[in-house]
Amino acid sequence: MSEEIQGSAESTPQPNSKPLKPRANNSTKPSASKPRPVATDAKSSTQNKTKSRSRNRRQSTPVDENLKTFVVKNQEAHKQRLNPHYKLDLNSKAKVRITPLGGLGEIGGNITVFETENEAILVDIGMSFPDEDMHGVDILIPDFSYLRQIKDKIKAVIITHAHEDHIGAMPYLYKEMQFPIYATPLPLAMIGNKFDEHHLKDCRKYFNPIVKREVYDIGNDFKVEWMHMTHSILDSSSLAITTEAGTIIHTGDFKIDYTPVDGYTADLHRLAYYGEKGVLCLLSDSTNSYNTLPTPSELSVAPALDRVFAKAEGRIILSTFSSNIHRVYQAIQYGVKYNRKVCVIGRSMERNIETAMQYDYIRLNKNIFVEPEQVAHMNDKDVLIVTTGSQGEPSSALFRMSIGEHRHIKIKPTDLIVLSSRAIPGNEGSISGMLNHLQRAGAKVASERDIHVSGHASMEEQKLMLRLVNPKFFLPVHGEYNHVMKHKETGIMCGVPERNIMLMTDGDQIEVAPKYMRKVKTVKTGKTYIDNQNNHQIDDDIVLDRQKLATDGIVMLVAQVDGKHTKMLAKPKVTTFGIVADRQDKAFAKEMEDILENFLMHVKEGQIENPRALENDLRQIIRKHIFRKMKKYPLIVPHVLVS
Ligand SMILES: [Zn+2]
Repeated sequence: MSEEIQGSAESTPQPNSKPLKPRANNSTKPSASKPRPVATDAKSSTQNKTKSRSRNRRQSTPVDENLKTFVVKNQEAHKQRLNPHYKLDLNSKAKVRITPLGGLGEIGGNITVFETENEAILVDIGMSFPDEDMHGVDILIPDFSYLRQIKDKIKAVIITHAHEDHIGAMPYLYKEMQFPIYATPLPLAMIGNKFDEHHLKDCRKYFNPIVKREVYDIGNDFKVEWMHMTHSILDSSSLAITTEAGTIIHTGDFKIDYTPVDGYTADLHRLAYYGEKGVLCLLSDSTNSYNTLPTPSELSVAPALDRVFAKAEGRIILSTFSSNIHRVYQAIQYGVKYNRKVCVIGRSMERNIETAMQYDYIRLNKNIFVEPEQVAHMNDKDVLIVTTGSQGEPSSALFRMSIGEHRHIKIKPTDLIVLSSRAIPGNEGSISGMLNHLQRAGAKVASERDIHVSGHASMEEQKLMLRLVNPKFFLPVHGEYNHVMKHKETGIMCGVPERNIMLMTDGDQIEVAPKYMRKVKTVKTGKTYIDNQNNHQIDDDIVLDRQKLATDGIVMLVAQVDGKHTKMLAKPKVTTFGIVADRQDKAFAKEMEDILENFLMHVKEGQIENPRALENDLRQIIRKHIFRKMKKYPLIVPHVLVS
């Protein structure tokens, strides 16, 4: 290696540079030790220079053998530093199993089980949002079947942060089974609010508030440390979960914000500490795997807010995620700067601001707030409304304002709407619909792009995480398959061998030991549908029926038969909805009535065992007919009346 460098530095390229060594030693010594001759005139100086250059071209500088040994020693030091294998106990028989029950192959609904032979801990219990075809479903919670199976092993629930996709399913789990909950104060306070709403006040007794940077023994097999992380909600954490098999770092959701609003930067030192000690496995946030530019600091929205607020002439109505307390806090500060009073509208927004103030995460003077009913009597220039509905949710305050159905706030042409948020994939349509309503009502909409920043790490921050933690094994988590896949590429770039990276989907159970990582089995996963109006579960078949009704319509048929002989007593009656236009209804029904009549007339005595079996037959006949004619599978409701 040193020879190559010598060859390319000053001398002309030499295919075999070995013989140069002794000559180089002899000839360079004198010129290096003697003072340079003083040039008498320009000509001789040029000659000298040419001479020495031609000498250098032929000869190379000497190699200091001692220095060379230090090059080797430094290479060894790099190898030790960068190769986590050396730091793990490869003779250990210990292993740990990791099973995501939600959050992989999807956005949201995060829940992960960490399991040893005898014990288990759960990290986060989140919810997710339904697809548009899940009619009447408000939220989705993970299927708890596997947790029921290992219930007796579970020692605790560990929470990384208070976003809905990490704590939203807590009340539903705690209605069924309870475990101690370990988390920092804000997530506990927000879980507490949920428990209260669900009449589970008593479950607050499971709270175990923790202090970051301290290590907690959980059961006999787990030691857990919470490390502060920056994200789009206050008081977020990464976890260091230490088991006999080694330490696992779970980043939770994160971005690396060097200038967070509260000054609490991500605890890179603790991550580096574990990285130095040797990390068995890293689970890291993949949400923004495709973003090549670093995610901007939360503080970077301040200039945009200032600009927008400075030129607003009427009321400002700002909407963002109610959990993004720092965003709300910054907006309120600029409202105050321009002498506006703040009106907070929307249940979750009110509750989150109140909780953050109660626990001193933010400090705001109470006299800056006004009630919604006061707004109508105030000067428009004196009002900042902070509200929910940035995703265009039909039940939100902003949506109701947009269609003129909000009790206190009617949209005016001088209003300025500021959406300080990104559209969650799938919500673009409802947001656009709401903006149409708002603009039809005359309001202006601020369209500055820099009025929102993401809470998730881009590729560069993912690299920093990988390099700090330096794991032997890597499991990219949080995200759809393509996000996780991209994160894998970043992992390989950052020195994790491809064979040490696995792409999981929900239900995959991965076993990790110092020597290996492998998939051992698949456990049951899925989603439970929840109706938010009553917080009750909706059974799968109800949702399937609703989908059928919505896409393919319904057919009802009534037949009257004689119980003994299964003889038809009256012509069958068919009614359909959502299949053909009203004017074709009669003809279409008659067609099917004739088919049924024909079938019933030819049923042989004793051929049909009972009315249920007959109903099935009728259903099949109609299904076939409608599919042949319409290529549809409507919901078919047969009624056989036996007289
Ligand atoms: Zn989050």
